[in-house]
Amino acid sequence: MPALAERLKDVTVSPIVAMSSRARVLKAEGKDVISLAVGEPDFPTPPHAVEAAHQAALAGDTKYPAQDGGVPLKKAIQAKFKRENNLDYALDEICVCNGGKQVLMNALLATVSPGDEVLIPVPYWASYGEMVKLAGGTPTFVNCPQNNGFKLRPEDLEAAITPRTKMLMLNFPNNPTGAACSREEMQAIADVMLRHPDVWVLTDDMYEHLVFDGFGFCTIAEVEPRLKDRVITVNGVSKTYAMTGWRLGYAGGPKALIKAMVNMQGQVTSGVSTISQAAAVAALTGPQELVRERAEVYRARRDLVVELLNQAPGLTCAKPEGAFYVYPNVAGCLGKTTAGGRRIETDADFALALLEEKLVATVHGAAYGMSPYLRISYATDTASLREACARIRDFCGSLS
Ligand code: PLP
Repeated sequence: MPALAERLKDVTVSPIVAMSSRARVLKAEGKDVISLAVGEPDFPTPPHAVEAAHQAALAGDTKYPAQDGGVPLKKAIQAKFKRENNLDYALDEICVCNGGKQVLMNALLATVSPGDEVLIPVPYWASYGEMVKLAGGTPTFVNCPQNNGFKLRPEDLEAAITPRTKMLMLNFPNNPTGAACSREEMQAIADVMLRHPDVWVLTDDMYEHLVFDGFGFCTIAEVEPRLKDRVITVNGVSKTYAMTGWRLGYAGGPKALIKAMVNMQGQVTSGVSTISQAAAVAALTGPQELVRERAEVYRARRDLVVELLNQAPGLTCAKPEGAFYVYPNVAGCLGKTTAGGRRIETDADFALALLEEKLVATVHGAAYGMSPYLRISYATDTASLREACARIRDFCGSLS
């Protein structure tokens, strides 16, 4: 076979995919696997969004879409930014892409040149570093320690910025920890960025609506308007409206950058499916109670999972502000041996042994850049969560 492209040499396969594949194999063998590995809402897409898509298809809205997104959807996004984030974006400061992922990749491709550094707070969503590498940049990591609630400390951010820094990527509420930033914490980050006028700030707000106990979500362009002309505010319908399969994300940002992103996307995938756009308009402009009701369900699940996981010997689980993940520390389980004779030296050993011996799929913290932890997604039903946590407790309890 002829050689593959050079640019792929550093890009790894997502360990999340590897774990899910192993879980699928075990399932196919008839094993009773519970998967807490996937970051996908278990709820259905709201019926009014599905209906809008159906009607759009019937009405013949089936031709090539506008590359930047149709006007009805861009207006719905504009209204959303105003309503929920107090941000004013003109229509030419908004673009629509095939999922949040494509927004991120477009933004990186449009800003990052070879040798540029992109700052990524750790733990991070596993795709960030790989995307930066694909864009030709160098991911540079800044630790967000557990004793700071897995949040970015301004002094660490300041210390990590170099003359090569091109962008800071923010993601609060965070995948994988669930940590979210208060307005004060975000202002402290913004204050650092004000001192570095040549650095872009990309904020991935995909989990905006999953914050609990009255926690107030904030986004950096709103907190610090003086940064707005170099902030890319990324969002999408995947997590908020349980629309992962519709592949629709969007961004607000400076006109020139949005134009560059749209031009590039136009050469690669063109605009987003007209049918998905119709569904997204309905989701964004329709009743929003469902979003709040579902957040409340996630809150109850978080409380349950945190309580049950803390009963597992050797495991400690902090209670995060948002998203649908918890990130328990497994340090107390390392150096031990499982009932099945497996030695646990790392969080990867823990996750694999837990899957093989107790049929619970999770993802090890190393996949997100910080060990020894596990990422547990609680976007699944309560009965499965209870059963999975009981298995984890048994697993930890039988380590010797
Ligand atoms: N950003 C974060 C932090 C995510 O966790 C995900 C999905 O897991 C995405 C972006 C991707 O969103 P989408 O499914 O819309 O591409």
